[in-house]
Amino acid sequence: MAQLLVGGERVSARGGGEMPVVNPATEEVVDTVPKGTAEDVEAAVAAAKGALAEWSGKDPDERAAIMRAGIGAVKERGREIAELLVREQGKPLSEAMGELHHFIHGMDFYADLASKVRGAYAPLPSSLGKSYGMVIKRPVGVCAAIVPFNFPLTLMGTKVGPALAGGNTVVVKPAETTPLATLRVAELFAEAGLPAGVFNVVTGEGPEVGEALVAHPDVRRVAFTGSTEVGRRIMELAGPQFKRVSVELGGSDPVIVCPDADVDAAVKGVNIGRFFNAGQACLAAKRVYVFDEVYDEFMEGLIKRVSRYELGDGLTKAEKPKIRMGPMNSARYRDQVASQLEEALGRGARVVYQGEWGGEKGYFFPPAVIEGAPHDSRVVREETFGPLLPVFRVGDLDEALRLANDSRYGLGSSIWTRNIRWIHRAAQEIEAGMTWVNQLHYGYDELPFGGVKDSGVGREHGPEALEYYLESKSVVIGGLD
Ligand code: NAD
Repeated sequence: MAQLLVGGERVSARGGGEMPVVNPATEEVVDTVPKGTAEDVEAAVAAAKGALAEWSGKDPDERAAIMRAGIGAVKERGREIAELLVREQGKPLSEAMGELHHFIHGMDFYADLASKVRGAYAPLPSSLGKSYGMVIKRPVGVCAAIVPFNFPLTLMGTKVGPALAGGNTVVVKPAETTPLATLRVAELFAEAGLPAGVFNVVTGEGPEVGEALVAHPDVRRVAFTGSTEVGRRIMELAGPQFKRVSVELGGSDPVIVCPDADVDAAVKGVNIGRFFNAGQACLAAKRVYVFDEVYDEFMEGLIKRVSRYELGDGLTKAEKPKIRMGPMNSARYRDQVASQLEEALGRGARVVYQGEWGGEKGYFFPPAVIEGAPHDSRVVREETFGPLLPVFRVGDLDEALRLANDSRYGLGSSIWTRNIRWIHRAAQEIEAGMTWVNQLHYGYDELPFGGVKDSGVGREHGPEALEYYLESKSVVIGGLD
C-alpha cells in the first residue's frame, strides 16, 4: 500500500482507512492509499508550519538547488512515474511522458525564479521626518494545493513550484483517483534533500481532507484546480478567513475558424486540443465555430483525423496509422459525457462521426463529432469533459464572437486567421483568460494561465504566479534626520 507523506515520514492514515486506486482501462485495483481524515490534515499542516522557518530562511540559491535535486530524481525515474500515471489515470504512455516533461519544465522554471524575487524602494515625503520606504517580499506561509485527476503532476507542479520557490511550505491533496504518481514524486523530492515537512501529501476524499485543509486556520494560501462547483465551495470556506485563494475551474473554450485560415493547421489544433487526454482537459477546443466558406473542408479533415483514434489501454501502442486513446478516468465522467451527447441528439443534433468501442472492461468513450446542437443544449451550456466535440457553422465574425461569448465559462479561446483586424477583435473581445492565434490551446509555463467568469479567479504559471505566494510588506526606515 502507498503511504501519506507527512513531515518527511511515510505514514498510514491515523484513522486506519484505505482507498483503492483503480486502473480505468481494466477496472483492476492498482494499489491502495490511506484514506486520510481531518486528523491527518492537522498533522500535515503542523509539519508544514514547523518547517516554514527553516525553508524560508534558506539562501534562495540553496532552495533552488534542493528543488533541482528533486527535479533530477523525478527525471531519472521518469518512465516508472509515467507508467504509474497511465495505470491510475488512463492516458497513453506518450501523453504521460509529455505530462511529466511539462511538470519538470514548470518546476525548473520556478527553481530558476527562487533567487530572482524583487521588492521595491520608494522615496517618501519628509513631513514626519526623513525616511524612505521598502517593499519586501515574504512567503505567505503554509499553502494548500488541491489537484484534479486530469493532469495530476503538472497541476500539482503549478502550485508546488511557486510555493517552494517563494519559501513557503505545502500540503498537497491529490484527486481520489490519481494519488500514486503524486506520492511517488513527493517521496523522491524528500529523498533528494527537501527538508521534512516542506512538501506533504495527504490522500483522501475531497469533502473530508480537502475541506479540512481549506478551513484550517494555519493554511494561509489555497490553490485549487477542479470543477466550478467545488471551486465555489472552496471560496465559501476560505472567504471568512480571508485566505489568499486561486481557483482554476472548468472551461468551454471556443475556437473560431475563419475563411482565410490554414484549415489543415486548424484541424490539427482542434483535433489535439479536443481529443488529447481523452478530452479531459480544462483547456481544450470545446466548441468550434467554422465559417461557411471552409466548413466542409474543415469537417472532412477533422473526421479523417478523429477516425484514427483507437481505444485501448494506455500502456499498449496502437498500430500505425492508428493513434491510442485511453479510457476516461472514471465511470462518472464517461456517463456524464454520454448523457450530454444524448441530450444534444434528442434536441436535433447529428453525429457526424463517432468511433467504436466493443470492449467489456474500462471507462471508454468513443470520440464523437456532432453538428447542429442547439446553443442552449448541455454540450454548449456545460463543460464537456470528454472526447465529444460540437461544431457550428457561422456566417461572419460578429456571429462567431457573439456565440463564443455566449457561455458562463471564460478560460481559453482561439482564432484561426491571418486577418490582423480579426485577430485584434478576438484578442480584445473574447471573454477569456487566454486567446491563441493560429495555435493549439497550450498552457505555457512562461505565461499567466487562468480564466474569467465561471472559469475562476487568479492565475497560475509565469512569474505572475509567484506573486500569489508572496506577501508584499511595506517597511518604513525613519530616524534618518
Ligand atoms: P473536482 O472539483 O471534483 O475535484 C478536484 C479536487 O478537489 C480533487 O482533489 C477533489 O478530491 C477535491 N475536492 C472535491 N470536493 C472537495 C471539497 N468539498 N473541498 C475541497 N476539495 C474537494 O474536479 P475533478 O473532477 O478532479 O477535475 C475536473 C475538473 O477540473 C473539470 O471541471 C476541469 O475543467 C477542471 N480543471 C480546471 C483546470 C484549470 O486550470 N482551469 C485544469 C484542470 C482541470
